[in-house]
Amino acid sequence: MFIAPGVPRAAGGPTWTQERTLVAVKPDGVQRRLVGTVIQRFERRGFKLVGMKMLQAPENILAEHYQDLQRKPFYPALISYMSSGPVVAMVWEGYNVVRASRAMIGHTDSTEAAPGTIRGDFSIHISRNIVHASDSVEGARREIQLWFQNSELVNWADGGHHNSSYPG
Ligand code: UDP
Ligand code: MG
Repeated sequence: MFIAPGVPRAAGGPTWTQERTLVAVKPDGVQRRLVGTVIQRFERRGFKLVGMKMLQAPENILAEHYQDLQRKPFYPALISYMSSGPVVAMVWEGYNVVRASRAMIGHTDSTEAAPGTIRGDFSIHISRNIVHASDSVEGARREIQLWFQNSELVNWADGGHHNSSYPG
């Protein structure tokens, strides 16, 4: 197995969990032809794409996806935005991918999102922030189950040429 230089081994080192997360290019991202840009950022970071599909998100999935926000004043507008066109849903795998992907997409409010993040580079308003990424490992598990059938996820072997193959 490939061992990345400088990465502590399991014994005594940090615990390394093989995480997965849900990333979705939202309808504004698709409209603005940013699907490839989002994919490219995750690929070049070294994460592994294990599921991807384009769909017009059904309302029941959106309602469950955003269940915690149902009482927020912006909820109806959020659902209508998320229904306004297709999304591209993806599952990415790799070392600490949940936390890393949140850093890569940037602050929810585009105004606060740092340059270099997806939201900080491509959006100006919280209601049109291009991309979704799960905010916790537990949330990711729930969201992946919601958006994908198990059979839609592909367990392909990492050839060991990339840094997503850190050993446990
Ligand atoms: N949102 C919005 N107005 C707000 C807060 C959130 O339109 O004041 C939308 C925005 O698209 C955001 C999504 O609701 O991405 C989910 O909100 P959350 O707080 O979970 O942010 P995220 O996890 O996407 O960064
Ligand atoms: Mg969220």
